[in-house]
Amino acid sequence: MKKIAVIGAGTMGNGIAHVFAQKGFEVHIIDTQKAALDKAMATIEKNLDRQINKGTINSEDKANTLQNITAFTSIELGIVDVDLAVEAATENSEIKKNIFRLMDEKANPTCILATNTSSIPIAQLAAVTNRPEKVIGMHFMNPVPVMKLVEIINGIATSEDTTRSIVALTTAIDKIPCVVKDAPGFIANRILMPMINEAIYAFSEGISDATTIDQIMKLGMAHPMGPLQLADYIGLDVCKNILDIMHDGFKNEKYAPCPLLIEMVQLGKLGVKSGEGFYKY
Ligand code: NAD
Repeated sequence: MKKIAVIGAGTMGNGIAHVFAQKGFEVHIIDTQKAALDKAMATIEKNLDRQINKGTINSEDKANTLQNITAFTSIELGIVDVDLAVEAATENSEIKKNIFRLMDEKANPTCILATNTSSIPIAQLAAVTNRPEKVIGMHFMNPVPVMKLVEIINGIATSEDTTRSIVALTTAIDKIPCVVKDAPGFIANRILMPMINEAIYAFSEGISDATTIDQIMKLGMAHPMGPLQLADYIGLDVCKNILDIMHDGFKNEKYAPCPLLIEMVQLGKLGVKSGEGFYKY
């Protein structure tokens, strides 16, 4: 694989483009919003500068990485000729299905179509294409240039060849692939989100304050960040959304979002991105 398209230039898309470009791949970053593309390029540049300051790359590496990235405002133009497309657009199944239909229509027949979805079943996206065997989940973690894990999700129709290629590619960009089957929330969020939800219940019942709850999980379980602070970083709307998808997918009440989480999202307290969640920013 040489050429990779990244669809969606938000938080995750810019990180995914950064990592592939730094490893020498030719990257087409695609977003319908020109402003999102400009912001993504500025973020990539800022993050490369941070790597230079840390001494992990030099200015030539930075220039080469930036040179490997081209921005496009349409999938039709950006996807032609790529070997892999990684969709990292807004977490909404209708938006993603439309993108998968279009990618399937416009991409080279050999192109693998991957999604960075946190929770939408791979089978739903594969079903709108004529190449379900080439559709796979490639779930990067935030921040992408720093986090080692890529959760690889095999849909029911994903072929062994597709999985093998994506596992090899993940290793080639210095990440660690962990392969799982398709199920709501996969593994990472299926375990993380109920923990966050339970921390929100404990907080809402007044069992303890946010700092103490986080301190207990940091000191007692060696978590680098407590669950409430982590929820603020992920975005409380994103947490609620993933819990809703698991609740709906498993039809099990244990995944229902805590009423306080629902209320906070309704009030626009979304965590770091809105300036307030369980903490103020
Ligand atoms: P984001 O809101 O920051 O970015 C999404 C981008 O997609 C926006 O720039 C938007 O303009 C673009 N977009 C929407 N429709 C499009 C279309 N039709 N064509 C091209 N671009 C389009 O979202 P994000 O946080 O980067 O999340 C992206 C995906 O990654 C989601 O599926 C999310 O669940 C997943 N994810 C997020 C995180 C995280 O911590 N943020 C972690 C793992 C996975």
